[in-house]
Amino acid sequence: MKITNVEAIWLQLPTVDERADGTQDTLVVKVYTDEGIVGIGEVDSSPMAAKAIIEAPMSHRIARGLRMCVIGENPLDIARLWESMYQGSIFFGRGGAAQQAISGIDIALWDIAGKAMGQPVYRLLGGGFRDRLRAYASILFQETPEETYNLARHLVEQGFTAVKFGWGPLGTSEAMDLAQVRMARQGLGANVDLMIDAGICYDTVTALKRAHQFAEYDPFWLEEPLHPDNIEGYARLAAASPIRIAAGEQETTLAGFQALLDAGLAVIQPDVARVGGLSQAIQIGRMAVQRHRLCVNHSYKTGISIAASLHLLAALPNATLLEYCVEQSPLRQMLTRETFPVVDGYVAVPQEPGLGVTLDEDVIARYRVA
Ligand code: MG
Repeated sequence: MKITNVEAIWLQLPTVDERADGTQDTLVVKVYTDEGIVGIGEVDSSPMAAKAIIEAPMSHRIARGLRMCVIGENPLDIARLWESMYQGSIFFGRGGAAQQAISGIDIALWDIAGKAMGQPVYRLLGGGFRDRLRAYASILFQETPEETYNLARHLVEQGFTAVKFGWGPLGTSEAMDLAQVRMARQGLGANVDLMIDAGICYDTVTALKRAHQFAEYDPFWLEEPLHPDNIEGYARLAAASPIRIAAGEQETTLAGFQALLDAGLAVIQPDVARVGGLSQAIQIGRMAVQRHRLCVNHSYKTGISIAASLHLLAALPNATLLEYCVEQSPLRQMLTRETFPVVDGYVAVPQEPGLGVTLDEDVIARYRVA
């Protein structure tokens, strides 16, 4: 089998605003083969930047577009092709958008391998520890604490046993922060897990103060309170916080996750569409297992990322929680024909060969920019 083409498809809603809502656009990757199998992947990045990295011509040996690194090669040689993309992008890559772009092709290669072998991807990653994951509903803090309260009630009624609120107005004032978290907890009741995503809004001292203040509302974790480069702050926070500290969604490299684990984080959150795909996400997950920390996916894109995350988490011994974005964007809800329904608070791991997703080409046609 040989790779004949790589297509990077930029999708975007008609209007995009500054909210931290990753479902406003995406980059879908299709990898075509001479045997008719097409692999599907997704990149979480600035879509136009990642598309350029895939399609770029050669500048020299270590500055090549990712597409030309894999064309003509056997798609089943996933590790070799990953290395070829990594080596081919040393000059402008080794992290950031290049690593995010590698993710899309890597996920598609795993999809091809699963389809070729007639197995779900998690089995190719070593096999499954579970056939469903407990989904936590993931959504942004609303503009007012009352709106957050109402949304919390609504999500509990939908059967979620865990809910995360993030970003939005958090960090604007101490009063707003405490009111938002208090009303989120009141809306969820005492028996639903609450996660708080600070969205990089604090310095170290404020984050530590908030961790103590939020503890009264029994959050399961406080996520990404600090700038991703503030590793020393994370170490101080992790050592002194009464609640779990989670982070990692901005990291794209093994070294980045190593640093967060060294800093003592309780939870790391690799995004399979950012860290170089399933090939690297599974290594990051196993690093967490080795250190007795939790690995929970970051995912705020489409059904492609949800499926890839389910395969990743199914193959890790200590992963039980799934980030499950509940934005109502058509890209989140309609791009894949599979909807990943939440049943009794859980989402099933796909059992079809490959990722187990099929794309709605009408949705692609409607939102395609380039
Ligand atoms: Mg987050």
